[in-house]
Amino acid sequence: METAQFAYAKSLLKRHFGYDNFRPQQWEVISHVMAGNDALVLMPTGGGKSLCYQIPGIMGMEQGRGCTLVVSPLLALMFDQVRALPDEINARVLNSECSEADNRATMELMLQGKVSLLYISPEKLVAEIDNWSSRIKVNLIAIDEAHCISQWGHDFRPEYTQLSVLKRYYPHVPIMALTATADRLTRRDIVKQLCIQNAGMFIASFDRPNIHLSVERCKTGADKLKRIVSFIADEHPRDSGIVYCMRRRDAEEMAKTLQSYGIDAGAFHAGIPAGEKHQIQRDFVNDDLRVVCATIAFGMGIDKSNVRFVIHYNMPKSIENYYQEIGRAGRDGAPADALMLYSYSDVKALTSFAESSGQAGVNMDKLRRMQEYAEGYTCRRQTLINYFNEPFDHECGNCDVCDGTVAQERIDGTLLAQKAMSAIARTEQKADASMVVKILTGSRQADVIAAGYDRLPTYGKGNEAGYWEWRDYLLQMLHQGLIEVSYENSNHLHITAMGWDVLRGKRGVCLSKHQERSSVAKKPSARASREKPQPSASPLPSPQEDVDQELFDRLRDMRKAIAKASGVPPYVVFHDTTLREMAAKKPVTKEAFAQLSGVGESKCEKYWRSFVSVVQQHQASH
Ligand code: ADP
Ligand code: ZN
Repeated sequence: METAQFAYAKSLLKRHFGYDNFRPQQWEVISHVMAGNDALVLMPTGGGKSLCYQIPGIMGMEQGRGCTLVVSPLLALMFDQVRALPDEINARVLNSECSEADNRATMELMLQGKVSLLYISPEKLVAEIDNWSSRIKVNLIAIDEAHCISQWGHDFRPEYTQLSVLKRYYPHVPIMALTATADRLTRRDIVKQLCIQNAGMFIASFDRPNIHLSVERCKTGADKLKRIVSFIADEHPRDSGIVYCMRRRDAEEMAKTLQSYGIDAGAFHAGIPAGEKHQIQRDFVNDDLRVVCATIAFGMGIDKSNVRFVIHYNMPKSIENYYQEIGRAGRDGAPADALMLYSYSDVKALTSFAESSGQAGVNMDKLRRMQEYAEGYTCRRQTLINYFNEPFDHECGNCDVCDGTVAQERIDGTLLAQKAMSAIARTEQKADASMVVKILTGSRQADVIAAGYDRLPTYGKGNEAGYWEWRDYLLQMLHQGLIEVSYENSNHLHITAMGWDVLRGKRGVCLSKHQERSSVAKKPSARASREKPQPSASPLPSPQEDVDQELFDRLRDMRKAIAKASGVPPYVVFHDTTLREMAAKKPVTKEAFAQLSGVGESKCEKYWRSFVSVVQQHQASH
């Protein structure tokens, strides 16, 4: 039974979306709700949440089990999502921006069981549910951006709290709550408020392997500008991207500078009138504006999958912020770049913000972790993913540390790490980093003696390294996920499961030899070497190797022309990943075109002639 369902679901995936396989967790989620269970789904932005309810929606309609309701808080995004779906699957929108006539037509179709997916605002759903529950068959209720239901989440929406009525009206219909950001507290709140305490938890990896991560230190703002101009001009001469700036003034100046170098750029910040802001967003989504220089407000609620780079002109104030902002790059899974520039004046400015904020302690801790990330020489991805408490034990091969841009000397650090962790264990995990180092180096300071730590067997056993050297190694161990800082307990160090494995001799540790900060030199960009596909545990497609860049550009022009003519954003026609595959495989027949990932039946019918003729013309001219 299960296998028949699976084969059927896979055929829908190919027919309507043009994909050959589910991503990790997608099928698990789908089969779980199809069996009548509730689910909480955590996946990063771009992870593929939508398919988790779209496939059950299509199956539900085809099998006469009713329609799937998709509750979403962002009105504009609902229309975008429906527009991006092939017509034959009959998705509709119901919210305050639809006309009466549209609403009536939708209702009529719903009653006939002809709607697969109904995107609906929470207000509308709560208003209609009493009237509907006896008349309309529902197969599944999906709650997108589910963190909005919780006051603990960062984007609380009061109208979401009324969704607790769903289970009352539709007790037997599974609920699927989806979000990209929810810590443990928020997760608990979501299942409680939706009355789905027994929901299965599906947590996908937060890794985004296609985003190349790099950090560069600059002395002055002028150095940063120069670097950004050359980065965009040399490495992304035609791509869309975002430059995040801390201040409005910087965003405006950046846009002007880029324009003066012939780069099509605009500024976006809270001081710009609403109408103009909408226009900027629209232009960006439609590939009519290439680079947006923005303060953090930009990016929320836009669903553009072909952002190829995100640059930080300033260091962000926390790793959470940084991760959310770089997450806007490469949602289509094709290679993308995240470049962060930082300077000591950033650190100074952020420190004074943090200190004057209401929660100085927490904000300073977050800032410190951000700075340590910037200055670190542990694989960036390892550092990031471990920060979010997801074990990540290998080097990623797609960051500036892994590709050797950050100069460093690697050493076997197993013994050093074991010494440090045995000191941590002997204090019963009740010492902070500074104390642990004092124990290792045999310090006679009063606090060491008072705690009796001079009687520990590890006391003074770490003489091979000095104080700062040990601090550095502890930091690297933190970034590698061997130890954790317990912020709520006076910053005591704790050993993780991975750390215990090292302590017990079950795994080794590689560290970077400590070096003075000033000697951390940057080699010139190692771009060429990282264009090669990297070994990765990732479920996302690896970059295509032999993409013909000139053909890619021509295909992109065709995509833009088609998008313009049909009034949709270019990525709705095809994602960059599909165009890249096209530029590598160069299909000249309809059959070959249909094989490409991202080409479903209806898109194939609509577009194959246009794109195949571009390929043919290109072949003829070479
Ligand atoms: P999210 O809502 O989690 O941010 P989306 O649902 O928008 O992510 O999916 C991100 C991108 O990944 C989309 O372009 C989507 O078409 C693509 N995608 C999703 N599932 C698959 C799959 N199984 N195979 C290939 N691409 C996929
Ligand atoms: Zn790496």
